[in-house]
Amino acid sequence: MRVSWHDRFAEAAGVLKSSEHQQTIIKVRDLEIGGSDFILMAGPCSVETQHQILSTAHHVRRRGAHILRGGAFKPRTSPYAFQGHGVEGLKMLAQAREETGLAIVTEVMSEDDVPLVAEYADILQIGSRNMENFTLIEAAARTGRPILLKRGMMATVADLFRSAQLVLDNGNPNVMLCERGIRTFETALRNTFDAAAIALIKQISHLPVIADPSHACGDRDLVPALARTGVAAGADGLIVEVHPNPEKAWSDGDQSLDFAEFDAMVTSLQPFIAVREAALDLWPMEAVG
Ligand code: PEP
Ligand code: MN
Repeated sequence: MRVSWHDRFAEAAGVLKSSEHQQTIIKVRDLEIGGSDFILMAGPCSVETQHQILSTAHHVRRRGAHILRGGAFKPRTSPYAFQGHGVEGLKMLAQAREETGLAIVTEVMSEDDVPLVAEYADILQIGSRNMENFTLIEAAARTGRPILLKRGMMATVADLFRSAQLVLDNGNPNVMLCERGIRTFETALRNTFDAAAIALIKQISHLPVIADPSHACGDRDLVPALARTGVAAGADGLIVEVHPNPEKAWSDGDQSLDFAEFDAMVTSLQPFIAVREAALDLWPMEAVG
């Protein structure tokens, strides 16, 4: 007999759809994440300078983005790479929010920084490298701020669900799940974009799902195609890296779109967003069977 979704994900039953709970809608400022609106998060990998973050914020806002991304605390593959500006970066993000009205999503890397980052951020990002840092997740959850939980690069969907369950268990219902690519034997791109995970999450979980095409492929030429794929797979939103001058970016320049490329991506997404809206009732109401 086929094993039910509830049996497959028994340790994280709280993230699955049920007759009582079919969809979590997260309110952030005037936005609703997980509902019928499609949510676009955009901005640089790292907050570098005031000019860089403000010019990017104004640009993406004009093109319809809702949320500004940017790291003030950066988890880097090399310990010698730029680690972020810390509180100064948070202040620059706050200024960008003030000028544009965009909400802010930014990563918190350590339990000690949780109160500080929660003071500035509208959404706390838990990065891939910390998806199983349970003390950090608990501390972030307890702030009551919405959480963007990124899938670990070596994590299964069940692992991701367990970490999300921990957020729920700490009294915070506002968690969204982010597919950002996983490590496989394929080396042509930075990671392997698991579009099936997006479809699976949309199908069986009530939590909003966000696609990150930038980290998934690592190459700006592929970002728009993966963004469209993410929307078609059922994502409630995208988080995309954008930089005024990607060649000079302090981190993740190869995968960052310049402003013209961002504009072209947004244009190319429109039919996909329209199809998503028309297809919202295709997703099951319960994770049964
Ligand atoms: C990021 O969003 O810049 C980032 C570091 O992402 P991830 O944790 O998915 O690698
Ligand atoms: Mn990045």
